[in-house]
Amino acid sequence: MDQAGGTSLTYLSGSGWVDRPTTLESALTGDVECDVAVIGGGLGGMAAALRLAELGRDVVLVEADLCGWGASARNAGYITPTLGNDPRILNRFYGDRVRALYKFAGHAVDFTEDLITRHGIDCGYQPTGNIAAAPTAAAFRRMVAHGRPGRRSVVGDAAQLGIPPTFPGGIHIKVGGILNPGQLALGVREVVRTSAVRVFEQSPVTGVVDTGDSVRIELPGGRIRARQAILTTNAFTNELPIAPRNLSTPVWVTAVETEPVSAEMLDAAGWTSRTPMTTNHFVMQSFRPTNRGTIVFTTRRLQTARRPRADRMPDQAVVDDLVRGFRERFPTLTDVAPARAWGGWIGLTPSNMAVVGQTTPRVYYSMACNGHGLPQAPYLGTLLADHLVEKGMHDDLAAVWRESRRFAPGIVNPVTLRLGWLADRLGDRIGRLRR
Ligand SMILES: Cc1cc2nc3c(=O)[nH]c(=O)nc-3n(C[C@H](O)[C@H](O)[C@H](O)COP(=O)(O)OP(=O)(O)OC[C@H]3O[C@@H](n4cnc5c(N)ncnc54)[C@H](O)[C@@H]3O)c2cc1C
Repeated sequence: MDQAGGTSLTYLSGSGWVDRPTTLESALTGDVECDVAVIGGGLGGMAAALRLAELGRDVVLVEADLCGWGASARNAGYITPTLGNDPRILNRFYGDRVRALYKFAGHAVDFTEDLITRHGIDCGYQPTGNIAAAPTAAAFRRMVAHGRPGRRSVVGDAAQLGIPPTFPGGIHIKVGGILNPGQLALGVREVVRTSAVRVFEQSPVTGVVDTGDSVRIELPGGRIRARQAILTTNAFTNELPIAPRNLSTPVWVTAVETEPVSAEMLDAAGWTSRTPMTTNHFVMQSFRPTNRGTIVFTTRRLQTARRPRADRMPDQAVVDDLVRGFRERFPTLTDVAPARAWGGWIGLTPSNMAVVGQTTPRVYYSMACNGHGLPQAPYLGTLLADHLVEKGMHDDLAAVWRESRRFAPGIVNPVTLRLGWLADRLGDRIGRLRR
């Protein structure tokens, strides 16, 4: 694995879930022509390219590094039908479309579960559902009052849900589950490599121009002429001038994995159900068990940068803060050591929803699935491919489609992220005092 540092905690520059493959597809050289060029080989781009090839299109997929090695292989591995924001905020952004958004998110879970089964991808998928855990009693009351408990949701206190008593309660949403995202991303990569898609890795696109009768795509070693192009470059999209300005903000998310924890210790911590959890903090935290007997936890302090660097490593201060949060929620596991840390870039939108649209007559984009792209990115890539070939628009694509090419500047910046962190920690402290 890519790693640095000599302490017992290893900082990784790649995914903590799988080793990086040693053989890469060759870089694009010379002049290449195709029907559709897909730029960016995460789960979104790979799914779009696969579907286009299935529909008989001559497709070229170009990836700056290694397909799947971005957020797709580094995330926490939750497949959930939840949307990123409080329903009240979503109502403000989307009004009548909110119902359609929930349908889209549910169908994205079904799609990704089917993708795993259809291609027989061994990624340790467990359909556990997910517990939305309230960090404080006040947050629990809000959750119950404003959540959208459905037929497949159960509300309960910590004992009823089998989660640590440091959470007053939560909602177990019995849809979706958890998997090893590295195995999923590399599994899909294998499916794409053995399909009719022409895959070029180590091929960063530096420019995209819609010339009126085709799309010209520039790379260090050559160029592509395509009838149409799709950008699935996630957090890196702002780097391409053809993308709409302010489409999303690049945000760096850090994950930590513990050393193995025994079943007895998990039981003593109160996590008897072993169901993965996410909190309803302003910046969501997550805690999940893994197939290797460890716990992976993510996301307390988010970071942003003007330009996302693909080779970035986690910051020690952010890792320390995550570990502090883990110990507050699992006080009986204070002696469990953090073993590895890694991170990845996501594109964040103010609504916390994915955006799909068209930036010129021949260039489309599908991205910014925020923290929900594991099921949503491949589903949207597939729906967009269908739209390009068959021209119709699926209701789920229409739910997130952006007609306007203008985006207001996002409010995500170091100051707002810091304020969000402070608000969360203040809430935690008040919650602890009242416990
Ligand atoms: C730590 C972490 C935890 C997360 N947890 C979850 C979770 O539990 N559940 C969930 O649903 N989501 C989660 N997410 C979000 C999820 O991983 C993403 O939304 C999803 O993977 C996005 O997929 P993608 O294909 O759009 O983007 P990516 O996987 O980022 O792929 C984009 C690709 O484009 C390539 N690229 C960029 N620029 C260029 C260029 N100029 N030329 C060629 N190629 C280019 C990149 O190299 C990259 O491979 C998490 C993310 C992180 C980082």
